[in-house]
Amino acid sequence: MAKVISVAVPKGGVGKSTTAVNLAASFAVSEKKTLLIDFDSTGSSTICLGFEKENISGNIFDVLSFKRSISEVIYETNLKHLDLIPSKISSTDEVRLHKITNNHHLFSHILTQEQLKEYDYIIIDCPPFLQGLTTISLISSDSVIIPIKAGKFSLSSIEKMVEYVEWVKSRYNSKLYIEGIVLTMFEPNTIAWKMTLDTINEKYCDLLFESAIPRNITLCESEFLGKPGVLINAKSPGAKAYLSLANEILSRVKVQKFAASVVYA
Ligand code: ADP
Ligand code: MG
Repeated sequence: MAKVISVAVPKGGVGKSTTAVNLAASFAVSEKKTLLIDFDSTGSSTICLGFEKENISGNIFDVLSFKRSISEVIYETNLKHLDLIPSKISSTDEVRLHKITNNHHLFSHILTQEQLKEYDYIIIDCPPFLQGLTTISLISSDSVIIPIKAGKFSLSSIEKMVEYVEWVKSRYNSKLYIEGIVLTMFEPNTIAWKMTLDTINEKYCDLLFESAIPRNITLCESEFLGKPGVLINAKSPGAKAYLSLANEILSRVKVQKFAASVVYA
């Protein structure tokens, strides 16, 4: 069974899609079969992987509304081991989607289908709000990654997210946990970052990933070139930071598997 990770926080422009795309690409580079699901109607991660809306015939909405099967909406990307379920959600679809997402366990059921058993990781790029798609994504996930950029508003969105994870956990998905908070567009010597880090270290120190993602132009180029950072320039600071984040997560999984084997031995 794949490990399902949502990338979510109720704020736009903090690096959710950049994290989802580049983390998924980094897992794929480590030869982990990975599926990225674009759950945001802006389709940012779809664009960053080189897909134009005109060339997409099926998307996750079609699966949630029983119009297509999951295998009909999976697209291979130009990176081996990385597949995508793109987003092509119109504004009218979004209204209908709201009703569909009232069925809280439909998406979890979809993710357990036989066709997805080949994946090691499923990464879900969530929209910048909690209701609807983010909620069903959290209900269906093992863990959640919370990206944060410098700023007071970012800090308050983390607080909301942490509270919401607890609520989803208590009501719908007891196995859900926070994989970690990742610093994005990190510029260590700025006052804004120093002030942001003061609060993070005080309140969320245990949740912080060691790998921080620097502000880096290669990651911005992704949306123009339709490739993840690692395919634009694998040696760029941005691509290296996401590879390091993926390794941090992969090494935790190894430790968890080792601990489990010791317990059951
Ligand atoms: P979200 O999905 O949270 O709305 P995005 O991932 O779309 O955020 O990022 C918002 C903008 O910031 C995009 O233009 C993206 O290219 C840029 N960006 C994200 N992370 C970085 C980074 N580490 N360095 C430079 N630009 C970044
Ligand atoms: Mg986004």
